[in-house]
Amino acid sequence: MNEVKTPRRPLMFYYLLVLIIIILLNCIVAPFVSKVHIQDVDYGTFMKMTEEKKIGKVEIQSNKIMFTDKDEKNIYQTGIIEDSGLVQRLYDSGAQFTSEINKTMSPMTSFLLYVLLPIIIFSVLGSYFRKKLMDSAGGGPGSMVFGMGKSNARVYVPSSTGIRFSDVAGEDEAKENLTEIVNYLHDPGKYKAIGAKMPKGILLVGPPGTGKTMLAKAVAGESNVPFFSMSGSEFVEMFVGMGASKVRDLFKQAKEKAPCIVFIDEIDAIGKKRDGQIGGNDEREQTLNQLLTEMDGFEDNTGVVILAATNRPESLDPALTRPGRFDRRVPVELPDLQGREAILKVHAKDIAIADDVDFGKVARMASGASGAELANIVNEAALRAVRDGRSFATQEDLEESIEVVIAGYQKKNAILSDKEKHIVAYHEVGHALVAALQKHTAPVQKITIIPRTSGALGYTMQVETGNHYLMTKEEMLDEIATLTGGRAAEEVVFNSITTGASNDIERATKMARAMITCYGMSDDFDMVALETVNNQYLGGDTSLACSSETQKNIDLQVVALVKQQHDKARKLLEEHRDKLDEIAGFLYKKETITGEEFMEILGKEDQPQAE
Ligand code: ADP
Ligand code: ZN
Repeated sequence: MNEVKTPRRPLMFYYLLVLIIIILLNCIVAPFVSKVHIQDVDYGTFMKMTEEKKIGKVEIQSNKIMFTDKDEKNIYQTGIIEDSGLVQRLYDSGAQFTSEINKTMSPMTSFLLYVLLPIIIFSVLGSYFRKKLMDSAGGGPGSMVFGMGKSNARVYVPSSTGIRFSDVAGEDEAKENLTEIVNYLHDPGKYKAIGAKMPKGILLVGPPGTGKTMLAKAVAGESNVPFFSMSGSEFVEMFVGMGASKVRDLFKQAKEKAPCIVFIDEIDAIGKKRDGQIGGNDEREQTLNQLLTEMDGFEDNTGVVILAATNRPESLDPALTRPGRFDRRVPVELPDLQGREAILKVHAKDIAIADDVDFGKVARMASGASGAELANIVNEAALRAVRDGRSFATQEDLEESIEVVIAGYQKKNAILSDKEKHIVAYHEVGHALVAALQKHTAPVQKITIIPRTSGALGYTMQVETGNHYLMTKEEMLDEIATLTGGRAAEEVVFNSITTGASNDIERATKMARAMITCYGMSDDFDMVALETVNNQYLGGDTSLACSSETQKNIDLQVVALVKQQHDKARKLLEEHRDKLDEIAGFLYKKETITGEEFMEILGKEDQPQAE
C-alpha cells in the first residue's frame, strides 16, 4: 500500500514564503533599478533655473515634473502647480520638453501592481495548495482556517502491494475472525440481503507489538479498500473541542470513501473511563463523546468498518464497548511456539540467512517474545552478520540476538575483578544447578557470565521444550527455588551475600505473592481472590482487595513461602557442592557454557531428584 501522508505544513507557510520573496526582491533589486539619484527641489528653483536657461531635458508627468540641468548631469523633480505660462517659458529657455506619463507608474498602476497583484497571486496559490491538501487527506473542504482541527488521518491508497493476511504469521484466530470483515467489505450486499448487521467497531486487544496494526492493515489489504489510520493520542489536542472536530472530520472523510476501514490505534488515549471528576480532562471527554455520537449516527451497512487497538481494554469506557459500538473484541495474544517460529520465518525471508537455521530452537529460546521483538531479533542477527563481515546470518547470530534483545549487548570492556567474576560464576551455576536438580523445571540452555549493557552480570537461560499454557503449583515452587539458587550459592560458597540477586528477589516475590493472592495456591485463603490485576497486557499491576489484617497475613505467607524454597535450594547446593565447584570453575574459564556442557559435567549419577 502506498501511504499518502497529509502535508502538515499549514497554508500560512506558503503565504509567508511568497511574502518574503517579494520583500527580498524589493530590497535587493529596487536599489539597482533606481540607481540614479533624483534631487527634490521646490517649484521656485525650477522656475528660476528655467529663466536662467540652466535646464536641459524636462518631462512633465501627471503628478510631477522631472528635469535635468544643461549638461544633463543631475536630475531634479518637483511637484506640479497650475502654471499656464510654463510651456512658453520652457520653449523660451530652449529646453527639450515632453509629457510622457507612462514611463513612471501612476498611483493607480502602482496600487494595482503592489497591492492587488500579490493578493491575487496569494489566493490562487492558496486555493491550489488547499485543494492539494484536501485531495491527499481524502476528504472535502475543511471547516477551519489553516487546517486547524482537521483530522490527520492518513489514507492508504489500496494497491496490490499492500499487507496481506499471509504477512501476519500466527494469530490464526484473529485472522479467522477478521476474515468475516473482509468478506463483508467485498460484498456488503450479501449481508444486507439477509438482514445481517456487521459490527460497527472491532476492538483488537493484546500486548504491545503483537501485530494489531498489521492485522488492521491486512484487513484493508485483503479487502482492497482505503485505510484511514489515526492514533488515539492524535485526537487529544491542546484546545477543548479540537479533538471532537477531528473526529467529525475523520468520519466525514470515511463516509465519502466507503467502503473503507478506519483504524484508531491506542484508543485508550481517548476512550478512558469518564470519571466525571471536577477538573477532569474536558477535551478527552468531548472527543470521546463525539466518537460515540459518530458511531451511533452511522447507519448499518454503510461499509465503514472501524477497527481499534488497545493494550488496556479494562480502562475503556463501558459506553464504548456496548453493542452497536465496539462490540466485537478480537484478542491478539503473544505468539505461542508455532506462532513464534512462523513469525521468525516470515521476517527471515527479508534477510540473507543460512539454510541450516533451526527456527524451532530459536523460537523456543525466545519464549514470551512478541512479534515485534521477534522481528527485531531477526534484524539484529542480520546486523551482527554485517558487523562480522559475513554475507548471511547464521543460527549463532539469531541466538546471540535473542540475548541482545533480552539482556542488551555484551559489555566487552566491563572489568570485573577476579573475585567478582568468581561470585557471578557461582551465582549463575547456583541457578542452573537448582533448576537441574528439581523435577518441574525447564532444561538449562545456556549459562553466561559476560556482562550485558542492561546491567546483568550474567544469566542462566532456561528453555521450555514445548508450549506451556498452564503452570502447576509444583512448577511455581520449583521456579521460586531456582530464582533463589543464585543467592543460595553465594551463601554456601562465600558465606556472604551480594547485591547481585535483586532481580531474582523481585521475581521470586512476585511469583510467591501471585500464588497466594491470585491463584488460590495457599492453604489458608482457599479460592479467594485477594488481588485484582489492573492491566494484564502491560506488566500486570495489581491492587489489593482485602482487609488490612489479611494483608498482613499475606505478607507473612509470602515470606514463609520464599524462605522455604530458599532453604530447599541451599540444601540442594550443599548436597552437590562438588558439582557446584566444578561447573563454576569451568564457567569461570569459559565465560559461556551450553546446556549440554552443563549436563555433561553434572553427570549421570545426578539424575533429577524428586522433591
Ligand atoms: P501492535 O500494533 O500490536 O503494537 P504492530 O502491528 O505495530 O504491533 O507490530 C509491530 C511489528 O512487529 C510489525 O511491523 C511486524 O514487523 C512485527 N510483527 C508483530 N506481529 C507479527 C506477526 N504476527 N507476524 C509478523 N510480524 C509481526
Ligand atoms: Zn540471579
